[in-house]
Amino acid sequence: MALQNQASRVIVVGAGIGGLTVALGLAKNGFQVRIFEQASSLSEVGAGLQLSPNAVKVLRQFGIAGAVSNHIFSPKYACIRDYQSGRYYLKSPLGKSVEQRYGAPYWHIHRADLHKELVQACYTAGVEIELDHRVLGYRNEKKHVTVLLDKKTEHVDLVIGADGIHSKVRELMLGVQAPIFTGQVAWRGTVPAAAIKGAEIQPNATVWAGPNKHLVTYYLRGGELVNFIAVEERSKWQQESWRQEGDVNELRRKFIGWHPEVSAVLEACDTTFLWALNGRPSLSKWHDERVVLLGDACHPMLPFMAQGAAMAIEDAYVLTQALLKYPYAQAFEKYEDLRKPRATAIQKQSRDNTGLYHMHGGWQGRMKLQALGLASKYASG
Ligand code: FAD
Repeated sequence: MALQNQASRVIVVGAGIGGLTVALGLAKNGFQVRIFEQASSLSEVGAGLQLSPNAVKVLRQFGIAGAVSNHIFSPKYACIRDYQSGRYYLKSPLGKSVEQRYGAPYWHIHRADLHKELVQACYTAGVEIELDHRVLGYRNEKKHVTVLLDKKTEHVDLVIGADGIHSKVRELMLGVQAPIFTGQVAWRGTVPAAAIKGAEIQPNATVWAGPNKHLVTYYLRGGELVNFIAVEERSKWQQESWRQEGDVNELRRKFIGWHPEVSAVLEACDTTFLWALNGRPSLSKWHDERVVLLGDACHPMLPFMAQGAAMAIEDAYVLTQALLKYPYAQAFEKYEDLRKPRATAIQKQSRDNTGLYHMHGGWQGRMKLQALGLASKYASG
């Protein structure tokens, strides 16, 4: 598609998955894109990511699905299992049937692998990435936007704030509002599959549902690693940081008595990080004249549908298409109109899954899980 937009010089704030994807989409379509990233090196956390077909479709459109597919694991089923007995409340096929139904596969990927491929593709498409540059402010002017960084000042046509849940661009646009602690923390880690003893980990995306906790396991890198996310409810988070190194023994103690597959993964783990899971209410607006938000900066969500990065990737596609079709002001309107209802619905569904995965309501919680399994059996049968 030919570039319709006169505003073609873009600064993206943040080289996370959302920022890199939108930079790639725009650069491939004739925009001149620079990314400013506050970190001094390009890297991602050592953890996994589930990439559902909606995200894979965008990677295909932007020409990097082939490169990304070299690093993936293809899970067979999406499962919800009982934390003790291992009974399946839900076992829904992924693999070929998902591809037939949605037109793209369901993948598991190490975040660092996806990040590396996005960075490479951005460089190839001509994106400039400047590290060690923190955005501190912006000012909309008549014919451009001025971006204030810690080390310099820039003038461009448009700014995309893809700077995550603690977004400075969001704060400048809407005022200071700390993210809300959701009362849950996530322990994350990866374990070499060869180090797991005493249980065979199934080749599925599995949620192990238990009272006030759940744990997710799945393979990465063709089966070389097993990724886990262990979520527990807590009344407060005392650390200043939203991410800290966790104590593996404490993690194991929290999940004593869980199914042998869970115990075997935690036994084999030697390092874990602990994350506060934060949220934000729906924002009153996503754009301000020449500045627009994307990804966790505007719709952070609990990871209980594995859709946060997928939503940032979808945002990148829709924003690119809108900027190709319309002048920027109209494009930002269309983007927000299209994306906000969907992102808000997924934020809500992700929150609602807490009750399901954590068996809230005791036996009634278990009944809900059983009903879910029955519904999916009839739906697929
Ligand atoms: P980020 O990844 O946070 O990137 C923001 C970038 O901006 C960072 O590099 C940061 O350094 C930079 N930055 C910040 N401020 C500034 C500044 N002022 N100036 C310059 N640079 C700045 N999603 C899925 O789709 N599937 C999953 O399976 C999944 N699992 C998850 C499991 C857990 C436990 C968690 C916590 C999340 C999970 N998610 C998942 C969600 C997903 O990780 C996020 O939604 C996604 O990474 C958001 O990407 P982003 O690019 O918007 O923000």
